[in-house]
Amino acid sequence: MKYIDHIYMNGHFVAPRGTDRQELIDPSTREIIGSAALGNEEDAKLAIAAAKSAFASFSKTNAEERAAMLQRLNDAVLERIEDLAEANILEYGAPRMAAVGRVKLAAANFLDSKEALEQFEFVRYIGKAKVVSEPVGVIGIITPWNASYSQITAKLGAAIAAGSTVVIKPSELSALQTQLLTECFDAAGIPAGVINVVNGLGATVGAELTRNPDVAMINFTGSTRVGKEIRRASIDTMKRVTLELGGKSPNIILDDADFAKAIPAAVRSCYLNNGQACVAGTRLFVPEHRLEEVKKLAREAVEALKVGLPSEADTVLGPIVTEKQYDQVQHYIRAGIREGAELVVGGEGHPAGLEQGNFVRPTVFAHVTEDMTIAKEEIFGPVLSILTYTTEEEAVTMANNTDYGLGAYISTTNLEKASELASRIQAGVVLINGAGFEMKAPFGGFKHSGIGREYGIYGLEDCLETKTITGFDLLM
Ligand code: NAD
Repeated sequence: MKYIDHIYMNGHFVAPRGTDRQELIDPSTREIIGSAALGNEEDAKLAIAAAKSAFASFSKTNAEERAAMLQRLNDAVLERIEDLAEANILEYGAPRMAAVGRVKLAAANFLDSKEALEQFEFVRYIGKAKVVSEPVGVIGIITPWNASYSQITAKLGAAIAAGSTVVIKPSELSALQTQLLTECFDAAGIPAGVINVVNGLGATVGAELTRNPDVAMINFTGSTRVGKEIRRASIDTMKRVTLELGGKSPNIILDDADFAKAIPAAVRSCYLNNGQACVAGTRLFVPEHRLEEVKKLAREAVEALKVGLPSEADTVLGPIVTEKQYDQVQHYIRAGIREGAELVVGGEGHPAGLEQGNFVRPTVFAHVTEDMTIAKEEIFGPVLSILTYTTEEEAVTMANNTDYGLGAYISTTNLEKASELASRIQAGVVLINGAGFEMKAPFGGFKHSGIGREYGIYGLEDCLETKTITGFDLLM
């Protein structure tokens, strides 16, 4: 059994004032594997006070000192790579290979922030003005459960690079992973009070961060619904908000694409992180006359993916994070069937032999129309919807016909065409022909997918205030 009894503030692991606890549940078995203490509003206030007090000196540190801290944070995370991967497997159900990769990615975020810090010009001269970038103040970091490690390190890296102090409110569903990550932060020798971590619920710890006048900025990743609540709650204290929210990303396959590669890649992009990814390419647009070929390729690609226990080496898809999320995915699969989409592969219920956990049958629907629930709402599970188009114009219109605007995927052998389509799609990130993410480049969404950008220099800039000073050329 794993018991987490402490939160982290002012450089110490301390018992929270809050007395509630949250059960930790293994998504592969639905068995209780421990519990975690939950902080409350009082804990959030104390952590904010610690961060505020530390800000006075931390904001005056120079870039070299902070670059050294980011390096130490990277090293401290890599030092615990095995433990962190184990926690990701146990608490989240990530397959082993994915878990190890995820920890490496999380550590690398600190190096990307370090590079951005080293490149950034904190002082510029424009005309007669001296323009100075200063840390914004205490940053409240609120993160979801689906990519805990990298969400936290991306936001923390940017804050440290900027010279801001933080209070982190991780998802209460990632308590074990966050505890280990916090131990890494503690080992990295960062001044007390710069990093504070309060495990707790959104309605208590999260809400306190969003309304507290001593928090200057909220850096949030999560659902669009909560993102809107946070933006509303931040208005009275005029906080800056960076919001990384949900998505319903389109994937357009043009007629000239190599379908044998593009369709399996489309399945993988939708099933990224078992479909629990904000950038999952969940709406696949294909030429109408190629639908039968697409269905066959998609079915073969899905059947080649092993759904299984996270501990098994060849598992590609493990369980969904919680029973609640599992039920949510089932609800959407039922909605697809009820509303008349054609089930190509997968369907309701557990895969055979995996009835004990939150395992979902990877599913593909064809003949999906834009009015169907599965074409509109974020499912957050391995469910791909295939829609057809007759002209490219129609494909772009349908791709943009959503409130979301996070990712978009395009497959074509005509790069000029790819570039033209990329310019017409309303999305913060466009990936062509199966390209991966460039982690140093900005990431964020158009429309209801968010405000602001993360990673690299853009992420750093979001954590800075700008001050213009003139008059150095004048004497009284
Ligand atoms: P969620 O919105 O339910 O919760 C996110 C975080 O907000 C949690 O820590 C939660 O405790 C906290 N929270 C909840 N209510 C709050 C409130 N009133 N005030 C302050 N904090 C509050 O999201 P989730 O279910 O944990 O994660 C899944 C969602 O995250 C999906 O919609 C997904 O698309 C999104 N996501 C977006 C990105 C991105 O970069 N755009 C990345 C990962 C996940």
